Order: sequence, then C-alpha cells, then structure tokens
Amino acid sequence: MSEPTPVYELYAIRYATREGRRADNFVGGDPHDGPMRMDYFCWVIKGEHRNVVVDCGFTPEMAIKRKRDYLRCPVESLELLGLSGATTQDLVLTHLHYDHVGSIMKFPAAQIHLQEPEMHFATGRYMRHPVLNHAFEVDEVVEVVRRNYAGRVTFYRGDGALAPGISLHLAGGHSGGLQFVRVHTKRGWIVLASDTMHFFENMDTGRPFTTVFNIGDAVEAFDLVRRQAPSRDHIIPGHDPLVMELYPPARPDLAGIVVRLDEAPLRAR
Ligand SMILES: [Zn+2]
Repeated sequence: MSEPTPVYELYAIRYATREGRRADNFVGGDPHDGPMRMDYFCWVIKGEHRNVVVDCGFTPEMAIKRKRDYLRCPVESLELLGLSGATTQDLVLTHLHYDHVGSIMKFPAAQIHLQEPEMHFATGRYMRHPVLNHAFEVDEVVEVVRRNYAGRVTFYRGDGALAPGISLHLAGGHSGGLQFVRVHTKRGWIVLASDTMHFFENMDTGRPFTTVFNIGDAVEAFDLVRRQAPSRDHIIPGHDPLVMELYPPARPDLAGIVVRLDEAPLRAR
C-alpha cells in the first residue's frame, strides 16, 4: 500500500495594498470604470514534516519606489505562523516579478523552486522592452542567478511535484514561466493560482490582467487552473482583496492579516 498523501495547512498573508481602477485590471479596459483595490500576498504551506513558503513579497524600500501601501514586512509576518525567513528550507517563486521575489535576500538558506522558462524569460531577449520588464527588478533577477550558481535553485519544466501533496504547474501567460501551486489540505486540493488571475473576476469573465506576455497562454491558464481544482471554492487568486473576506482569520487577532485557506470559505462569492 502506498503512503497516504500528506495534509497541509494553508495560509495567505496580506502585506501590501494599492488603490486602482477597474480599467487597470483587465486587458481591453472595462466599460464600468471605478475603483478596484489590489492586495499583495505571500502564502504559507504548513505540514507535519515540511513547511514551504510560496512567494516572498517586496521590501519597504520597493514599496516607496513603486508607491505601494506597505502594511507589514511579509517575512517578519511569517513569525505569526511560527516560521522565519532565515530558517525556511523551501521557497517557491511562482514568477520573478518584484512583488513575488523582492524579499529573497531574507531567505538565505532556502532552496528556490522555479520554472525554467521563467528564468529564461527574465534573463532573455524580451527584457529590453519596458512593457515586458517593468514588473522585474534586475538586481532581484541577478540574485536568483547567483542562487543558481550556488546550487540553490530547483528548476521545473512543466508540471512537477515539490513533495507529496504539493505540485507545481506551468501556466505562462502573465509572465513567460509563471507557475501555480496545488496543495493537499483537509478540504481537498487547493490551487494557489498566483498571477494566472489577479482577481476572481479575471477568470470569471475570461479577461486577463493587463500585465501580460502571452494573451493566449493567459486565457488558457484559467482552464489549467480550473482543471486542477475540485471546485471554484478551491481556487485562490493572486491579488484579490476578497480572499481576506472569504476566509477565516488564522487567529482572531489576525483578521485582515492572515487567513486560513484550508478552512471552507465563510460564504459563497
Ligand atoms: Zn506578476
């Protein structure tokens, strides 16, 4: 008999936010323009034998440079869940945009899990175009190159398993090698969709977010995500403020800061 698949706890940490307009968030704009806020998250997978951090957020310096509202350091926030950046063994980077990789220096011991096409994209020919490089910071990309030279990057090419109960899936679209993460929890497999959809509404209406490398892959990614999730309540978008409302706080004092994604949503959306 094979071993049962491990069951993980799963958390979202909200560390920054930004006011925006609906037209900013959909390719082709939006006929009903109005305010539409965007939140910034990192995610924590907690298991009996293994903890994994998914994306590490940006630094306070980057928040000033890019005019984002910084709520808290995402890496210090790991301590709310009993983890630390210094001791984290496994860090998944869904892609190399500044808001997903920016705090990498605070994870000195981690093995990085990244799609090979994302490394190629972030270091390749397209990065001379501002429309494609604006969400990357070259120093952060160079740091990932350094980690690779130090043997600290595990590359995936397509779908792969990080560990039993944690799988990685290449989507592309928003970035050349964007991946999403599937985690086995007590309520089934949950898909951390990352930036395959910034908002539920990107998927629900089939309209990708405006930062996009390949629109065809971005639209197809909605189906890739849906295929890996048992229901729409098992899909977690990358930047949607609704996530903080739909899921219960990890502790009463963490409302609006850390929610538990492995608990059922509090209401239908
Ligand atoms: Zn992104």
